Amino acid sequence: MEPLQEPLFQNLFNHLAEPHVVVKADSPRFTVVACNKQYKAVSNTLNKDIIGMGIKEISDLKNANYEGDSIIEKALNKAIETRQVVKLAAVRYDIPSADGLQMQQSWWQTEYIPVLGQNGKAEYLLCTIHNITEQVTSKKNRERAEQQEKALRKEQLLNEELAETIKKLEESQQNLAKLNNELEDRVASRTKALSDSEARFRNMIEQSPVAMLVNKGDDLIFEIVNQPMLKLIGKGDAIKGKPLYEAIPELKGQPVVDKLYHTYQTGEEWTGYEQLVLMDREGKSYQGYYNVTYKPLIENGQITGVLEVAVDVTEQVQARQKILESETMFRAIFEQSPLAFCVLKGRDLVTELANDNILKLWGKTRQEVIGKPQTVARPEVQGLPWLKLINQVYTTGVTHKNPEFKILMQQDGKPEEGYFNAVYQPLKDAEGQTSAILVILEDVTDKVKAQQQVDQAQQQFRQAVDSANMGTWSINPASYQLTFCNRSKEIFGFSLKEDVSNRWAMNAVDPAYRQMVRKAIAAGIEKHEACDLEYPIINHISHERKWVRVTGKMFFDENNRPALFSGLLMDITTRKLDDIRKNDFIAIVSHELKTPLTTLKAYAQMLTVKSKKAEDVFTVVALEKVNSQVKKMTGLINSFLNVSRLEAGKIHLDKVNFSLDELVKERINEFALTIKSHIISLSPCGPLTVFADYEKIGQVINNLLTNAIKYSPAGKRIEVSCQSEEGMARISVKDEGMGIKAHDISKLFERFYRVEGRHTQNISGFGIGLYLCAEIIQRHNGKIGVESEIGKGSNFWFTLPLS
Ligand code: ADP
Repeated sequence: MEPLQEPLFQNLFNHLAEPHVVVKADSPRFTVVACNKQYKAVSNTLNKDIIGMGIKEISDLKNANYEGDSIIEKALNKAIETRQVVKLAAVRYDIPSADGLQMQQSWWQTEYIPVLGQNGKAEYLLCTIHNITEQVTSKKNRERAEQQEKALRKEQLLNEELAETIKKLEESQQNLAKLNNELEDRVASRTKALSDSEARFRNMIEQSPVAMLVNKGDDLIFEIVNQPMLKLIGKGDAIKGKPLYEAIPELKGQPVVDKLYHTYQTGEEWTGYEQLVLMDREGKSYQGYYNVTYKPLIENGQITGVLEVAVDVTEQVQARQKILESETMFRAIFEQSPLAFCVLKGRDLVTELANDNILKLWGKTRQEVIGKPQTVARPEVQGLPWLKLINQVYTTGVTHKNPEFKILMQQDGKPEEGYFNAVYQPLKDAEGQTSAILVILEDVTDKVKAQQQVDQAQQQFRQAVDSANMGTWSINPASYQLTFCNRSKEIFGFSLKEDVSNRWAMNAVDPAYRQMVRKAIAAGIEKHEACDLEYPIINHISHERKWVRVTGKMFFDENNRPALFSGLLMDITTRKLDDIRKNDFIAIVSHELKTPLTTLKAYAQMLTVKSKKAEDVFTVVALEKVNSQVKKMTGLINSFLNVSRLEAGKIHLDKVNFSLDELVKERINEFALTIKSHIISLSPCGPLTVFADYEKIGQVINNLLTNAIKYSPAGKRIEVSCQSEEGMARISVKDEGMGIKAHDISKLFERFYRVEGRHTQNISGFGIGLYLCAEIIQRHNGKIGVESEIGKGSNFWFTLPLS
């Protein structure tokens, strides 16, 4: 019996908790020599006797979850060879659970322990199958725990990493946010900068003193327009925001706008000078000139608009145009002026310009002189003072005038004397140096010759005055300064060496006439009335009483301003004394004639009465004629007497208040009794009371009526009218007679003046009637005059102050 088969061993062996089997080291059979129950249970061989079987014959083991015989064999052989315990790798072999209801996960590890014999060699091999489920499970659990821990650690690590990452993420997020903020700030500041710069740009344009505007977009909308530009184009704020053509439609088709579009389309900058632009201003078309610059506005590489800068140069252009015009005008004046002109350039006096008049004077053609020095073109000027003068003007640069300068002109090939006012004017360059001489010649030949004639006439006049023993006098109307020529001084007996004072002259005048003289001078100077006075003076040296006649009138200067009140002074003492003698004679004769005439009148009246009684018709008629002739004669003699009284200053006015209209009526009625040849009518008027000499005014009315009858054919009407006019009574006697020539009218009221002519030669008269009328009326402070038309009639009138 094999010791291993011993029951003790077998019991012990069976009590071992783990499956054991002992095999012989008889490789490769490895015969089973002992096994316990646990082994049999696990190898599913409980009912078999596996002692003596080769290990490979235990089939259940083959079903075990391991690699098979070779692994077992290799392990057994290894234990034999190495005499070391060999362990197989753990295998999973699930066994039923205690209740047998489910399989239980189980892990097993086979261990081969060599049992050495005395020879030290392995004789047996103890195979123990350890249930390492718990071990494995716990290992697994541990491993799992480890793994879990690892995983946890990993997770923790991961978490930490994550946290770190999150932290980093947060940091980076913060950074990002910061960056974002920064970015936003930067964007905001960039945007602000951009809008600031845009605002600056807008501001710059709006505040620019230069006219600027910005047109934007395809329609060239007025986006920015500054005030100077609005002023320049003459438009209001209304154009802002409007397209170009909507705002200023009149610009359509104008070249300057085409250029604007060109800049907008091509981006080419453009500048145009003195561009003509037509625009409507306050409903009127305005033409302006501008220096214009178009600059494209580029944003993000795109042309978005055009910046326009304009400068108004209208004034300069117009001024230049005016200069051009005036240059043209100057040339026209130069060519067409009645003056003779030339421009002589440089020291050589090269003729640069010469008008026709000067060419005519020189007797040259334009080709002969233009571009040539004077001495070459006109050798005749060599040595003339004229050349010297011009050279002098050139050197001094001072204008020289040569009035009424005599030259010999070429007139139709013949030399002729001419007079010229010459001006030699230096023309200076930019440095103020004389570069040319402008010669202007004004032909004053006619004027000089006329003056010569006047001088001659004046000389002749002076001679005539001298030979007629007349003097001249004048009063300056501004200073009242009196001037006497020597002859006048002689008449007054003043020293020839001294100037005459007004006081001396007035003192010499007969005191009775001074008022009249003063009045006449005042009327001459203030009202420009001519004077013709006769008055006595006392000669300063001889104390003789002399009569002078003084005539005078106002003379005017070329500007029609009173220049001199002057005239002639004649010694008329001889004539005047003759007149006085004549007057005295007439007075004596008239006076002497009056007495016999009165007697004649009385006898004629007595005879009339007698012959009427005797019914001697012839004598009655004859005596009527005698009477009328006596009446005429009486009138005549009275007139003569009046004249002589007048002249002697002895006329006396016997003034009373009376009704002038009544007097007129009365005189007309008287005339109507005797005059049947004319129809005398009176237009009625209101009462006209005057303070006057009844007789003498009646005489004036008579005179005017007599003349109207005398100087108009029989059958004509004579209209008498009376009226009141500005404080004056006005009586007029209008006839339909022969009329009076204008040049006679002014003299009608002079003593002894009668109109000479065919019509008047058969009408008797002495020319004293109107003279007397004028004297009487003037002494009443009235006026007398006449309007007359030859062949149609006259209207004689006089006025008297109403009382
Ligand atoms: P007389 O009639 O005696 O010649 P006057 O002094 O009355 O003198 O008149 C002067 C001159 O005036 C006249 O000679 C006459 O030529 C002209 N005259 C006067 N009255 C008229 C008249 N009514 N119509 C035309 N001529 C007149």
